[in-house]
Amino acid sequence: MTKQPQVLVAGAGPVGLTMAAELARYGIAVRIIDKAFAPSDKSKALVVWSRTLELLDRAGCADRFVAAGMPAGGANFFHGEKRLARITFEGVESPFPYGLLIPQSETERLLIDHLASLGVTVERGVELSAIRPDATGVSVGLHHPGGHAETRRVDWLIGCDGAHSVVRKALGLNFTGEALQTDWILADLHLDGLPVPQNELAIYFHAEGVLATFPFGRNGRHRIIADLGRATSTLPRPDPTLAEIQAVIDKRAGAGVTVRDPVWLSTFRINERKVADYRKGRVFLAGDAAHIHSPAGGQGMNTGMQDAVNLAWKLALVCRREARADPLLDSYSAERSLVGEEVLRNAGRLTRLALLRNPLARHLRNFLMSLVMRLKPVRRRLAQRLTELDIAYPDSPLNGHRCVPNGLPAPGERFPVEARAAQSDAASPDTISPDAPTSKPRFTVAGNIDGSEMEKLAARFGSLLHPAVQPLPRSLASAGAAVWLLRPDGYIAIAGCDAETIGAYLEKLLP
Ligand SMILES: Cc1cc2nc3c(=O)[nH]c(=O)nc-3n(C[C@H](O)[C@H](O)[C@H](O)COP(=O)(O)OP(=O)(O)OC[C@H]3O[C@@H](n4cnc5c(N)ncnc54)[C@H](O)[C@@H]3O)c2cc1C
Repeated sequence: MTKQPQVLVAGAGPVGLTMAAELARYGIAVRIIDKAFAPSDKSKALVVWSRTLELLDRAGCADRFVAAGMPAGGANFFHGEKRLARITFEGVESPFPYGLLIPQSETERLLIDHLASLGVTVERGVELSAIRPDATGVSVGLHHPGGHAETRRVDWLIGCDGAHSVVRKALGLNFTGEALQTDWILADLHLDGLPVPQNELAIYFHAEGVLATFPFGRNGRHRIIADLGRATSTLPRPDPTLAEIQAVIDKRAGAGVTVRDPVWLSTFRINERKVADYRKGRVFLAGDAAHIHSPAGGQGMNTGMQDAVNLAWKLALVCRREARADPLLDSYSAERSLVGEEVLRNAGRLTRLALLRNPLARHLRNFLMSLVMRLKPVRRRLAQRLTELDIAYPDSPLNGHRCVPNGLPAPGERFPVEARAAQSDAASPDTISPDAPTSKPRFTVAGNIDGSEMEKLAARFGSLLHPAVQPLPRSLASAGAAVWLLRPDGYIAIAGCDAETIGAYLEKLLP
């Protein structure tokens, strides 16, 4: 970087990379370091959900993900060879109505390329070893390869340094929660003979535990995970052999499903932990540094990447001196900590449901699952939750007025995003495409605002407000004269307002 960095991002996993890329696209001088000498080659998180793709699209890089991944067709639940239920993403209203199956190593590679296109390179082999925050900035100690030590001052530090975060520990923040005493095995390999289409998940419930198979990428590879019951030692279990994996599959999925060509055999235990506050003064936490939980539902990486998007526009406005610091920066933890709690709770529930051992409870689970999953509203609700399209900030301190009837999008909710063909149909020369990549963090007015009122607002709040109006999506065509003010991350600030309300809202944000 030629400019003195204002922000240091510690950790170049998917969350740190997203954070650095978002800040860089908003013109902030950012530096990103990682103690590892090379990116991880492990597949880890296998799915990028609809909402994450929508947010990547705002940054102009979703197409690369879609080209590299494979849309999931659905998930199938079995008891032995009997199928209990199948969930699909039918009815999901998004330009990306699916979970995109793509290994985390690929996600990281695409984010590294995206970051490089914005002129930022990850500094590898550089470890954050000390931090001293004060009222005006943060002094950081960095260890370089070969033992060279560097001391540096930055305005802001963001700890995206994973579950064992040194930033979190240095701040003395409690990582409250527990470790579940169940051993799990994991394998990345080829599977033959699964009774589901190549792009679908299979989850088998069995008296001895759960077995789940996930396809990833287009190369025919699968991840399998299975629990082995209560851990008998505090020490980690040895990695499983291919024969052990086959034995678990034979028992839980029945004959005919075979494994071959393993590339990763491992074990893990689940931790459910979270910090209460994601901000302490000039230091923030995001991703696994702030919350970790069961992989059930595949939400961990997605939630972390969305933490990054949520913080980046706020911090960028503050760094650009276009907004006051506290209302925006305090809202980061207020919004994302509640999302983190909810994700932790839901992933925990799914895991405990899968791990039921009592025969009566298991019978009831299987019966209820086959019953309720036939109901369209239940399937739809589950799909909205998995895809993270239902994430909202109803209690956000950033929420302004609501003057729309029930049923129309309210402050804190995601504003509907349309597929691109529909966007260009609706756009006129005076309107903007809803998700055109922008180099400045700007609020946007959507709907039927009077042209001269809009001109006055744009003239008064040019540093905060996009001058063009965003057309309403088709799903809101009947909303009449309603106007929404949208935040730079596409969530609603004000619903159904007039120019005066918008002006009063933006006025409060000005420095
Ligand atoms: C087996 C497995 C399966 C998973 N499956 C899913 C899934 O299906 N879906 C999902 O959403 N999530 C899943 N996850 C979780 C997902 O992998 C994590 O949530 C995600 O990696 C978190 O990203 P992060 O950037 O916050 O942290 P990390 O990926 O852990 O990255 C942190 C980075 O910080 C660096 N670092 C650490 N300390 C320092 C330091 N002091 N100085 C400099 N750099 C430092 C590390 O080297 C690392 O590169 C899975 C995880 C595992 C292990």
